Amino acid sequence: MARVGIIGAGQLGQMLGYAGRQLGLECTFLDPAESPPAASAGRVIADRFDGPRGLAALQRQSDVISYEFENVPVETVESFAQALPVYPPAAALRHAQDRVREKQLFETLGIPVPAYRPVDSVTQLNAAIAELGTPLVLKTRRLGYDGKGQAVIRGGENHQEVVDNLGGASLIAEEWVNFDLEVSAIAARSISGELAFYPLTENRHTGGILRTSRAPFEGQALTRLATDYMTRLLQDLEYVGVLALELFVCGDRLLANEFAPRVHNSGHWTIEGCRTSQFENHLRAILDLPLGSTELVAHAGMVNIIGHMPETATLREMERIYLHDYGKTPRPGRKLGHVTVLDSDAESRDRRLLELTALLEN
Ligand code: AMP
Repeated sequence: MARVGIIGAGQLGQMLGYAGRQLGLECTFLDPAESPPAASAGRVIADRFDGPRGLAALQRQSDVISYEFENVPVETVESFAQALPVYPPAAALRHAQDRVREKQLFETLGIPVPAYRPVDSVTQLNAAIAELGTPLVLKTRRLGYDGKGQAVIRGGENHQEVVDNLGGASLIAEEWVNFDLEVSAIAARSISGELAFYPLTENRHTGGILRTSRAPFEGQALTRLATDYMTRLLQDLEYVGVLALELFVCGDRLLANEFAPRVHNSGHWTIEGCRTSQFENHLRAILDLPLGSTELVAHAGMVNIIGHMPETATLREMERIYLHDYGKTPRPGRKLGHVTVLDSDAESRDRRLLELTALLEN
């Protein structure tokens, strides 16, 4: 039985672990948290991500290593890689961890991005405002997630305060993109270079946190463009595993926002909505197994459960609804689970997605 070691034991680890079980794999996780979500899907080594003891234990129990969040220290991945295969490759992680580097990579590959400027001081912020105008989004280059580490400058703010609140330096200013909508492209590349693309997914965020996703996004030209951009990224990085690319749709153009070198929240609907989920294909890719079909089985929608768990009795009355409870302690703004809805046509899917969203927001 192949043994897969996963750094991180959150909900992504949990869903990887469940997919691993169905493939007959043994997944072991490394995470310092007490009873993390993935504890229900495999053994957890309770230790730091960057300490020698936990890493050595994970290494002993694994044939291949992967990770479920992108803030894993690059050095950790590189040190593992000397002893056993680690996927996705460190180069992908290095770019994903720094928004400026990430944008430079997109540009090198001919993938359009919003105009941006690195910012390390108020003087540079003022120059960025003069060049890019307002509103302007100021983000930390590293360690931001779910809209954290970001501020929008609309005019009238105290720039010194905004910069200080974000850590004083190592920031990026981005032009405000008046996008029509947001989509994500999710794909897998295996060790032997096999590629599999999921249907493009449309995403809605509130307060920087993903609320809903639906697929397939109907737009052939944009889908072709996204597949082209994704292919460039996967090939250039010699990527192995599942990669998610977040894009802004502006008319017939796509602007790359960021990529995640891992399975992604906007792909959770693939568990029930595709023949092979993103989780299974990630494992297949890193074990060099043939990738599974990404064909749709229905029109799918997903709603994140954030902050508190809903009354499940009402959900049970709805058909083709799939509840995933990660088993986390509720906290405002925390992703506790998600619900997927499937339907035979886009209209009914959208109607039920609205019902579901209303129910979950109560
Ligand atoms: P991020 O952490 O970069 O994924 O940003 C979180 C969310 O904030 C995105 O999904 C967008 O909804 C919004 N956002 C980020 N950057 C921009 C931008 N340059 N212009 C407009 N909205 C943005």
